[in-house]
Amino acid sequence: MKLWKKVYLYALVLTTLCINLGFLGMMYAAYEHMLSAEKERCEAEYVILWNNIFSDIQRLEKALPLDAEYFARYVNAYSSYYGSDTMLIGIMGDTVLTEYEGLGELPLQDGIYLCEEAQTTIYVSQDLGKGYEGYRIVMRRTLQDFDAMWERLRPLYLGGGMLLSLGVSCLLAAIVRSVLKPMDQLEWAAKQVQEQKWSVRVSMQGKDELAQLGAQFNAMAETVEKSVEKLKQQSQQKQEFINNLSHEMNTPITSIQGFAEYMQITDISREEQEECLNFISSESRRLKEISTTLLQMVDMQCEERIQMEEFSLLELCEKIELFYQKQYVPKNIKFHMYCGKIHMKGNPVLFESLLRNLISNAGRAVYGKSDAWIELRVSQTEEAIQIQVSDNGCGIAKEHLEQIFEPFYRVDKARSRAHGGSGLGLAFCRKIAEMHQGTITVESELEIGTTFIVTIPFPADEL
Ligand code: ADP
Repeated sequence: MKLWKKVYLYALVLTTLCINLGFLGMMYAAYEHMLSAEKERCEAEYVILWNNIFSDIQRLEKALPLDAEYFARYVNAYSSYYGSDTMLIGIMGDTVLTEYEGLGELPLQDGIYLCEEAQTTIYVSQDLGKGYEGYRIVMRRTLQDFDAMWERLRPLYLGGGMLLSLGVSCLLAAIVRSVLKPMDQLEWAAKQVQEQKWSVRVSMQGKDELAQLGAQFNAMAETVEKSVEKLKQQSQQKQEFINNLSHEMNTPITSIQGFAEYMQITDISREEQEECLNFISSESRRLKEISTTLLQMVDMQCEERIQMEEFSLLELCEKIELFYQKQYVPKNIKFHMYCGKIHMKGNPVLFESLLRNLISNAGRAVYGKSDAWIELRVSQTEEAIQIQVSDNGCGIAKEHLEQIFEPFYRVDKARSRAHGGSGLGLAFCRKIAEMHQGTITVESELEIGTTFIVTIPFPADEL
């Protein structure tokens, strides 16, 4: 059974019970009130009659002493004034002197009595007192009109109670339905999520618990949607990575195999042999480079294994400068390094790899230029350390700038392969920057040059 129906049923039973009990109570109170008004009226009339009879008897006492017959006549005379519903009965001792058809026991004690016979009947009884011992006047009144009126009023009360219950029940149904309506929306939305429709949201107004539940549901659906989206992206990236990797590994392996077989089956000269071996050696180097970078990247997945320590960037840059000066001076490439006494917290080995990757890429970009230069510049602001590697090489076209950080993405595939490189260099650099909570960006213009900017913020507790 639906929740709103359940709530409605419980509320309906309760309200119907309360309303009908209330009406019954009201009915009873009204009955009691009307009856006591009738009793008072009856008593008041009786007192007047009794006084009249008593004063008549006293007045005529001397001329006509009181006896049973005379008393009966008196009482009958007064009784005849009334209609059929009221009767005065004269009693002497326990003998009824006047006409009376014995309807129940007559009260022989002073007082007012109510008797629920076939009709509601009131008896008022009082003796004549001192000097007239034994004489008693009883007034008997049947409440025919009262009973008839009550007969008419009772169904009105009962009908009113039922009608009110019906009205309240309709109102209750509408209120319960509208208050719990958002539950339908929530149920529908939960089903959608079950069917993997993550974009579903509910719209609930107000600040009550249901609206809060709706807001929480939306927040949960959003988190799930984002996680699913992220998982999809990650799985797609992984698939792309595997495709690229198998392609990148396959190319040098096929070349190595090709050259080796060529050397096996063909009678070639010493120079040709040397040439083939050079190819085999350079392709094997590339394979090694790919596998080394891959291993480093896998290692970086376990962040807890990576030691972070305070190190001098100046010392690291001087070491790198020494290495590249040796390499570039013979090739006529100018290498400049600018770095102050800057310290940073990080992993010096990985950071050296990052700088070497960027500088090696710059070396390839300026290859063949007559006035080639590469610059490594480290600066520091209040919030971060900035490392720039610039060159005046071939530059990168705008449409490639976004993708060059993806694994195995190359702007000029043939040229890049000819110059070596794993195709993972920039992806690796970005990973290292991210591990240091930093970023890596690039600015470049074709035939003018390129600048890679690595920004490593200082940890929040050091600011
Ligand atoms: P690779 O091992 O091929 O160098 P990277 O991921 O390091 O792979 O670089 C991706 C591509 O970005 C390179 O193939 C190259 O085309 C381009 N690139 C990187 N650095 C530079 C640069 N300084 N100047 C021009 N192109 C660059």
